[in-house]
Amino acid sequence: MDAAKDVFMDSLTIYGGVKEIGGNKILVSSRDTRVFFDFGQSFSYLDQYFVPEAYLSPRERFGLKDYFGLDLMPRLEGLYSQEALQYTDMQYKEPEYDAVFLSHPHMDHFSHMRYLDPKIPIHMGETTERILRSTEATTTAVCIPEGAQVFPYQSGKKIKVGSIEVTPINVDHSVPGAFGFLIDTGEKRFVYTGDLRQHGKRPEATEQFLKGAEGLEADALVIEGTRVASKESRKNHTEPFVEEESRKVVRNTEGMVLCMRYPKDLDRFRTFYSIAKEAGKEIIVSPKTAHLLLSLSGDQIGMPNPLKDNNIKIFMREKKTYFKWEKELMEDCVGVDYIHKNQESVMLELDSYYMAELVDIKPRKGDIIHSMSEPFEEDPVSAMVDEVLHNWAARFNMNYHQLHASGHASHSEIFEMVGRINSKVTVPVHTKQPALFRKSGHKVKLVKAAKEFRV
Ligand SMILES: [Zn+2]
Repeated sequence: MDAAKDVFMDSLTIYGGVKEIGGNKILVSSRDTRVFFDFGQSFSYLDQYFVPEAYLSPRERFGLKDYFGLDLMPRLEGLYSQEALQYTDMQYKEPEYDAVFLSHPHMDHFSHMRYLDPKIPIHMGETTERILRSTEATTTAVCIPEGAQVFPYQSGKKIKVGSIEVTPINVDHSVPGAFGFLIDTGEKRFVYTGDLRQHGKRPEATEQFLKGAEGLEADALVIEGTRVASKESRKNHTEPFVEEESRKVVRNTEGMVLCMRYPKDLDRFRTFYSIAKEAGKEIIVSPKTAHLLLSLSGDQIGMPNPLKDNNIKIFMREKKTYFKWEKELMEDCVGVDYIHKNQESVMLELDSYYMAELVDIKPRKGDIIHSMSEPFEEDPVSAMVDEVLHNWAARFNMNYHQLHASGHASHSEIFEMVGRINSKVTVPVHTKQPALFRKSGHKVKLVKAAKEFRV
């Protein structure tokens, strides 16, 4: 009787990431062990009631109250901290979950970890921890619950939590230190991809993960499908293509080059850095980027040290007061006058919300490389930002270039992975189109959010 029961003991429950891109909260249960993989923020659920761009956001001072009140977070006992539950109708309970494994440091994978009970151990790669600690030091964000124990894991090294054995394997994605997981409960085997791609700077990492996943003969594959769509509407550029095209822009420019990229996309930084160096230009970065690069100096991914590298300068905007962490970088900083005087020999990294600095920098002419996603037609805010950025470019006689490679595998690459891993069942997450996975020809389980699925 017991043995028969055991066979059905292992389960998957997807609390976030079902029919939405991001918000991954994936629970693996086996016997007496319960482990979460990722605990991210769901943007599409949040967007039903909140518009952060219009300052309509949940009342963070009340912890999980608004999230529970609007069913934006799973009501699970023994998971959240006392502080997060203080204003809710849920009583605090000692942890009933054994660990959280974080795949990579993107908001939609980590950002709800801040509500977790700090008694629950968190496992993440060393690079991820360095990136999150830098974010905490330079913003008001809490990424890792205060007092929580962080256990750094390494690619290929098994970690045992209760009856669940986890092998993290490095994959390539648009942030360094991203991992997928091979999970073995002794009874069943699972694969969770996290976010991954094959067209970045390290396709061999993703390949390594796929080989491991193939060999597992998995019972269930939990796979991302960000770009799975009925028709591929976006260009499928590779990182080497972005590098080559950006190099042409920099070679042919007649003025200043301004670059925009996602703050944690350090592959893209490396692309711009090496192009600048080749062209004999200085790359000028924000204090936040400098802090992040310093946090990662000594890390295995080998980023340049902005305080020691002659090709890098830090742009400190003029403002009334500076944070302590900014003051520590002051020595190596330049201001708007320096950039104005040297505009032909610099590549300036500038976030869109600092565009007004151009009023002081006064570029005579040049080029803007927008190295982020194209505007989404469905999202009026991103379309508006796009229009405004074009206006800035025109105002300062700058050519506008859209050059970006996605952090996610394309539709056909995802289907190829499903085929190679050849799991008994495939569970699509981090996608708006889970039903399309049926076209892969493999058995697909369309799970409902928060509904336990016995494997
Ligand atoms: Zn990601």
